[in-house]
Amino acid sequence: MQIVLQVSIPQLKKMAAYYAPYAVSKAPKGAVFAAKLSQATVTAYKSGKVLFQGSGFKVEAARWQDNANQPTQKMNASHVTPGATIPTDFANWSVIGSDEVGAGAYFGPLTTAAVFVSKNDLDWVKALGIADSKTLTDAKMRDIAPEIIQRLPHHVVNLLPEKYNALQPHNNVNQLKAISHNFALHKVLEKIAPITPDAILIDQFAQATTYFNYLSKAQQSPVIRQNVYFTTKGEQYHLSVAAASILARVVELDTMVALSHEAGMTLPIGAGKAVDLVAAKLIRQGQDLNHFAKLHFANTAKAKSLVN
Ligand code: MN
Repeated sequence: MQIVLQVSIPQLKKMAAYYAPYAVSKAPKGAVFAAKLSQATVTAYKSGKVLFQGSGFKVEAARWQDNANQPTQKMNASHVTPGATIPTDFANWSVIGSDEVGAGAYFGPLTTAAVFVSKNDLDWVKALGIADSKTLTDAKMRDIAPEIIQRLPHHVVNLLPEKYNALQPHNNVNQLKAISHNFALHKVLEKIAPITPDAILIDQFAQATTYFNYLSKAQQSPVIRQNVYFTTKGEQYHLSVAAASILARVVELDTMVALSHEAGMTLPIGAGKAVDLVAAKLIRQGQDLNHFAKLHFANTAKAKSLVN
């Protein structure tokens, strides 16, 4: 019942500030800080490794997961109060929700999904039991995803490593996320026209102004702005975000299976030590890392030093 995230030093500082109100006076040896929350304990080390334990470890880690291993990260969405701008009756609206996965994983794609859940489909989606999407197992998500795909208007942007690596030097990760969300939302709007949703909810990874700045810089057209809301923990505010989160995760998993097959070895999810070892093995075999991994991660240099 624990998970370890590898985060950048600036991110570690943000986490220290965030958890300061929960800090325990005596942190374990070698720890930068330790915090005790009602459902989880968090211990951070100088190396940037952060350990989450306790019954709520997944939920607490998820708060930071998208930001893990991204030294270029400038904005920390977790400083935004979740749901600050969301109207009270929002859960009952017809909403397109969007969410992405894979930003913190060395191997595999950055996958973004948008799903429309109309008022009429809310009961059906509730019956899927996905409200707490962050705590579902991969197996459960694999069961549910085909039902979502079959019934609900959706679009997935699966940015594979080669494309990601071509774009990333010119667009930071949050900009790539913004472009992906905007495109997925645009596609779903096209699919459901002439119906329009009451709102769009983006699981927040950047401030709204930053998000729209990214899109204007990238000259995305059209930019979807009407009735767009942002919040962290978006899945708690509308089931469309929960559905999008599941769909993105399952497409990511399927892509990992396909890439692992091509590589002839299992590519682990995440950005830890296991990832370095597999990357080193790929290099030794003369395989093309560009095809499998997000090259700007520190894992690339670590793998190379393991080879030498
Ligand atoms: Mn998210």
